[in-house]
Amino acid sequence: MKVDWLIVGAGFTGAVLAERIASQLEKKVLVVDQRDHIGGNAYDHYDENGVLIHRYGPHIFHTNSRKVWDYLSQFTEWRPYYHRVLAVVEGRRVPVPFNLNSLYALFPPRQAERLEEKLVCTYGFGTKVPILKLQQTEDKDLRFLAGYIYHHVFYSYTLKQWGLKPEELDPSVTGRVPVYISRDDRYFQDTYQAMPKQGYTAMFQRMLRHKNIKVLLNTDYREVVEEVKFDRMIYTGPIDAFFDHMYGPLPYRSLRFVFEYQEVAQAQEVGTVNYPNEHAFTRITEFKHLTGQKHPGSTVAVEYPQAHEPGQTIPYYPIPREENSSLYNLYRKEAERLKQTVFFAGRLADYRYYNMDQAVARALKLAGDLV
Ligand SMILES: Cc1cc2nc3c(=O)[nH]c(=O)nc-3n(C[C@H](O)[C@H](O)[C@H](O)COP(=O)(O)OP(=O)(O)OC[C@H]3O[C@@H](n4cnc5c(N)ncnc54)[C@H](O)[C@@H]3O)c2cc1C
Repeated sequence: MKVDWLIVGAGFTGAVLAERIASQLEKKVLVVDQRDHIGGNAYDHYDENGVLIHRYGPHIFHTNSRKVWDYLSQFTEWRPYYHRVLAVVEGRRVPVPFNLNSLYALFPPRQAERLEEKLVCTYGFGTKVPILKLQQTEDKDLRFLAGYIYHHVFYSYTLKQWGLKPEELDPSVTGRVPVYISRDDRYFQDTYQAMPKQGYTAMFQRMLRHKNIKVLLNTDYREVVEEVKFDRMIYTGPIDAFFDHMYGPLPYRSLRFVFEYQEVAQAQEVGTVNYPNEHAFTRITEFKHLTGQKHPGSTVAVEYPQAHEPGQTIPYYPIPREENSSLYNLYRKEAERLKQTVFFAGRLADYRYYNMDQAVARALKLAGDLV
């Protein structure tokens, strides 16, 4: 077999690049994925009870990029969806990211009012203030609030999610957690928030349905790399695996999902409920909120973070620590030597957490640079 491009991985990165190369550069592409489906981690399918679920964890689409939105809109219609998350804190369910409504859900009205007044007067309504910044104020009420959120919402969730204390992670992780001085309970504030109307997999099918694209599933690219003739390659798998872990494995955090079908129309009041403090799992997501599916029953995903064992578990999240970035840079230097022959892109090849829209933007940028 002879193609112009071999693309490893049929997730967002691989699919966007395949579509662009096939339709814009009019080149022949072979996309290879070791899994038995396209879509990478965004893959969705109907479970044995007929409920549309996301096998690799809940995926909610949101972006501020008009370019990404317009690009994907060629392949899907959308269903508007605003994700909402509640966290169980001291027995109460409060909106997160923490906002003014959360204050009233947790504290006696007088105290909540005082905190609201101080937040609004100090930072202004509609702003997002990182809790690290709140912790540094002179005001003892605001410092109390920062400490409260840190301990009751952030600290133990982080410990469960990463298996590390916040101070053991890159400061950018702690620095990002905001208090939103607003009554907006939506989890995201992006301009475009919606779910593909027929699901992600249907969208991927349309992206890859082109006469210049062939897709080979259930195949590690190493099985075919000698047999297929190609000019250039795009690799979206783990960069350390490409180089046979020559500098050692890059650390990842993994997850285990337990899917539970319930004979109820609705299992919980919002898409996701976080459990920062109790249980071994971090959160429960009910898919019907996300997909809008009508069904007499409902499936939820209970999410258990776990250590990553190469070859046994799925590498989900790069672990944001400085030493890991240094290790990744060694691999990146190796990758640079292959410039113009092998292109590395995507969350595993760049060893960086990307939201779906960021993965699409990255792939569109790379596609634009290819000639
Ligand atoms: C639990 C979880 C929840 C998420 N939720 C959201 C969300 O709500 N919103 C959002 O915007 N983003 C979310 N994301 C991020 C989203 O999953 C990524 O942006 C997206 O998957 C990136 O696509 P990708 O193509 O780079 O990687 P992937 O989707 O991982 O695709 C890479 C593909 O390469 C294949 N591959 C790897 N090695 C080989 C090999 N040797 N041979 C053949 N094939 C190979 C893999 O099988 C995989 O299919 C979430 C991520 C996780 C982990």
